[in-house]
Amino acid sequence: MNAELKFINEQLERIFEKKDIISNPIHLIAYKTDASMIKGQALFTVFPENIDQIRRLILFAGRQNLKLVPRGGGTGLVGGAVPNNSVVVDLSKMVKISQFSEDEKTIFVEPGVILEKLNCFLKDYKLMFPVIPSSHKVCTIGGMIATNAVGLRAVKYGRTSSNVLELHLLDGKGKVHILKDRSAIGSEGILGFIVGAKLALEKIPQKKSLSFYEFSELDLLVDKVTDLKKTKGVSAIEYIDKKSSLMIGLEENYHLLVEFENELGDYSDAQKMNEIWSLREGLRTIYGNEGYLTIEDPVLPLSKMKEFLLWCEERDIPCYSHIGVGIVHNQFRQDQRDLIDEMLKYAISLGGKVSGEHGIGILKKKYLSNEIKYNIEKLKKTYDPKNILNPNKIIDFKSQYWSDRL
Ligand SMILES: Cc1cc2nc3c(=O)[nH]c(=O)nc-3n(C[C@H](O)[C@H](O)[C@H](O)COP(=O)(O)OP(=O)(O)OC[C@H]3O[C@@H](n4cnc5c(N)ncnc54)[C@H](O)[C@@H]3O)c2cc1C
Repeated sequence: MNAELKFINEQLERIFEKKDIISNPIHLIAYKTDASMIKGQALFTVFPENIDQIRRLILFAGRQNLKLVPRGGGTGLVGGAVPNNSVVVDLSKMVKISQFSEDEKTIFVEPGVILEKLNCFLKDYKLMFPVIPSSHKVCTIGGMIATNAVGLRAVKYGRTSSNVLELHLLDGKGKVHILKDRSAIGSEGILGFIVGAKLALEKIPQKKSLSFYEFSELDLLVDKVTDLKKTKGVSAIEYIDKKSSLMIGLEENYHLLVEFENELGDYSDAQKMNEIWSLREGLRTIYGNEGYLTIEDPVLPLSKMKEFLLWCEERDIPCYSHIGVGIVHNQFRQDQRDLIDEMLKYAISLGGKVSGEHGIGILKKKYLSNEIKYNIEKLKKTYDPKNILNPNKIIDFKSQYWSDRL
């Protein structure tokens, strides 16, 4: 360890117990990346147990020109938690749950709480946090708020932002903001640490059923989606393309898998419904196994969905989609990687966006419009003028205090 790292280590030991600091380069390998597999380098990893430790760390980082990267479960797919010679702040020890009100259906949680654990706790009260991404067994509430994650049932429950009542954000100046608006939701750790949140809960639905609808024409399918979005009790509308349908044992046609929180659907046996959902959820693994390793998440207006899906079909890009909320998951083989850029630009040209759920991180910065970049920069100047927090994610912000030393 060089003299500068030694000094930083000593200062970290004033804030954290030794057991809550990783400095061994071998152990730090585990913090080089997240689920994006983009590789960076962590100088240290620390495990705060309370807000005061993070505040002291931020103030030290400001003096020392250290960069800090908040990390939840590390399931992000765009490199948001990848360090660049920075200190990784792993929030997995901040897991307190408090202020639970069964009557008001609200709860206050610290950022490191894993969604699955929260929902296990709530199950006894027949309640749930309703945004359930496929990564629910690993992802944290802090990470979900930071990426504004989306679950399968967004048609009914919206995204994470629809279910956060209050957000406690510790900014790059060490100040806690109690925000009741959505301004910092989806900010991917560049404005502050999410150190707590009051969440709105929902009752676990008593009844559920599923239906499959089959179409030979995409026009008819899109019309059906429009109708279903107006139908009471519909909680999920999932699109499965021809190729994917065949892979899970359906006819080689376009399909919609629709979940109802009532008895309107064709299947209501719990085991059967689980089997059907696991087929749909298994598509990502099936495609991974076939060499389609890169998953994307553009979002399209329903009016342009047909054009977009056909564009993908013509290029042998398999698609399944949370079509009820416009998010398309398309998967690419290694030899199709050049098509990703073309596809994202095409989505923008149709009035869509490059990411419906995974976020911008490192991977999608170049697609943001100047207007969006300008607005984010304004927030960054307010909350983190020294650019301590997660630099070079979403935007390349150069603060007036910038130094390239580290
Ligand atoms: C198999 C798989 C399935 C997935 N399915 C979905 C899905 O269905 N829907 C969906 O939306 N996403 C999905 N994702 C993407 C990812 O899981 C989600 O975005 C998730 O919300 C990230 O949570 P995390 O705790 O793992 O965050 P991390 O990966 O640790 O961090 C993500 C970002 O949030 C920031 N961050 C984390 N915690 C904090 C905090 N306390 N304060 C400030 N910033 C913070 C990080 O700096 C980073 O920028 C999936 C990923 C995988 C690997």
